[in-house]
Amino acid sequence: MQSNSDQPINLSPSPQVVILGAGPVGLACAILLLERNPDLHLALNDKFQESNEFITQGDERGIAISEGSKQLLESIGAWNLEAPAIHEVHISQRHHFGQTVIRREELQKDALGYIVRYKDIHLQLRLRLKALQNQSKNFVWHYGSTRSDFEDMPTSTCCIHAEGGLFHEQVAKDERSDYGQSALIGWVQTRGVPENIAWERFTSGGPLALLPHHHGKNARNLVWCASPERVEELKNLESKDFLKELKEAFGLPVGEFLEIHDRRSYPLGLNIRESIINQNHVWIGNAAQTLHPVAGQGLNLGLRDAATLSQCVGPVYLSAKGQQFEVLNKALVDYAGLREKDRRATIGLTDLMARVFATDLAPIVIARGLALSILQWIPPLKSAIARQMMFGQR
Ligand SMILES: Cc1cc2nc3c(=O)[nH]c(=O)nc-3n(C[C@H](O)[C@H](O)[C@H](O)COP(=O)(O)OP(=O)(O)OC[C@H]3O[C@@H](n4cnc5c(N)ncnc54)[C@H](O)[C@@H]3O)c2cc1C
Repeated sequence: MQSNSDQPINLSPSPQVVILGAGPVGLACAILLLERNPDLHLALNDKFQESNEFITQGDERGIAISEGSKQLLESIGAWNLEAPAIHEVHISQRHHFGQTVIRREELQKDALGYIVRYKDIHLQLRLRLKALQNQSKNFVWHYGSTRSDFEDMPTSTCCIHAEGGLFHEQVAKDERSDYGQSALIGWVQTRGVPENIAWERFTSGGPLALLPHHHGKNARNLVWCASPERVEELKNLESKDFLKELKEAFGLPVGEFLEIHDRRSYPLGLNIRESIINQNHVWIGNAAQTLHPVAGQGLNLGLRDAATLSQCVGPVYLSAKGQQFEVLNKALVDYAGLREKDRRATIGLTDLMARVFATDLAPIVIARGLALSILQWIPPLKSAIARQMMFGQR
């Protein structure tokens, strides 16, 4: 079923589960729940209209998808994506010593990760959910809606908050810090740059990443973090001046940068909920934690939230006992417990990287160089960190 929210939303009978927000994490959660229980009374609040037009014209940002997320998306039939693979990750500092290289062979994987446009993931998940809709007679998709008609749900209804959003659009959660950085995003036309390598360079202004791009061997995604003023300046530079600055900031002889396309900026910060559950409410994805993109973890963590939540909440409504608040509440308490380690590790690692790699203080620069060198020379430690990035804490 579907509804457009110019009309009052008919909530009779009350849904068993409500999902607020149909970004990638909310959509993945809806799919996982309906796959488990096609009869579930589920309502999804999607701010976009039914047409996919807005999404196909939407956010071109290249997102690093981990192997774990790829497996999840494949398992729910949402991996029909142009997704260039990352075979090696090179992490180093501009102007200072210290380098770590992680290769797929060390982890015995086909790839360390993949780069996919945000809008492609969003669309794939939407299409998959639309396909499932035919078999799910109790599923109602409310299009064009950001209304809060769902606020007064009975306590046996599970309210899943997946409203996400970008750092600067969000109200403050329990812990919020502005890194005083923005990310300049775009893609660079290149020549002679080796394929399937992701570079993460730490410059005095902030991290700069050059990543594979779906256009193939002569294009790279760029994520360049710096002060908001510097990002504004870079965004407005003539293309040839921009490329000169990029070459200087990147500082590795890896090929030529020929043209810059689609420059956009995103303010960056950390915004997290301490507790991700309250009564019959639960927060997942960016609604639970919004992170700096330095480690490419936000969406990957959010998809793991969705997977675990569907495992905990799905069974509740398969039995008549699902009408009892206590049964739902226990499932949500279990969920919060299961997510704690992974959230802490991922948030902690990302925050550490965002802070440590954004300073030019001499002792920190030296410690940073040593840490990168130590990682390079202690493969088990390097693999452990790489595995955390690829699969989270299980
Ligand atoms: C520059 C940048 C680079 C990034 N790179 C990576 C990366 O490489 N790897 C990675 O894993 N992550 C990355 N991320 C993070 C990633 O984009 C987010 O973690 C991810 O998009 C979160 O998904 P979500 O569905 O929780 O939220 P969103 O993607 O924000 O989707 C939530 C949706 O719900 C809508 N909404 C809000 N309120 C309501 C309401 N009341 N009702 C209905 N709908 C509502 C929102 O408008 C939005 O469309 C990056 C982020 C940035 C800014």
